[in-house]
Amino acid sequence: MTIFERIVAGEIPCKKVLENEQFLAFYDIAPKAKIHVLAIPKQCIKDFQEADPKLLGELSAFIQEVVKVLGIDKSGYRIISNIGRDGGQEVPHLHFHILGGEKLGSF
Ligand code: 5GP
Repeated sequence: MTIFERIVAGEIPCKKVLENEQFLAFYDIAPKAKIHVLAIPKQCIKDFQEADPKLLGELSAFIQEVVKVLGIDKSGYRIISNIGRDGGQEVPHLHFHILGGEKLGSF
């Protein structure tokens, strides 16, 4: 069971931003920006590469709602999904990092 499945199950607490039947958004425990939130499907899918495009579309719509709740939809933000070893993915459960709340550095 991944750490995110345990968060979905309520075994590990999280600071929730938004939730629906399919998806959950919560603050990252080790923020890399003023606002750093993770958006995940409740169902455990390993990564972006394994995900059904339909689900990714629904997750995109969910993220658009999350950034409105966070109040960063107008100021801008960055979304990142790390995939696999070379992508630096630590948790093998599809997630998008949502970063914002300040001017982010370029990379
Ligand atoms: P990855 O490197 O897999 O793309 O990102 C995993 C993210 O999950 C990291 O930014 C890390 O800080 C976050 N994370 C790991 N464990 C927990 C946890 O127990 N709670 C929360 N809220 N975030 C976590």
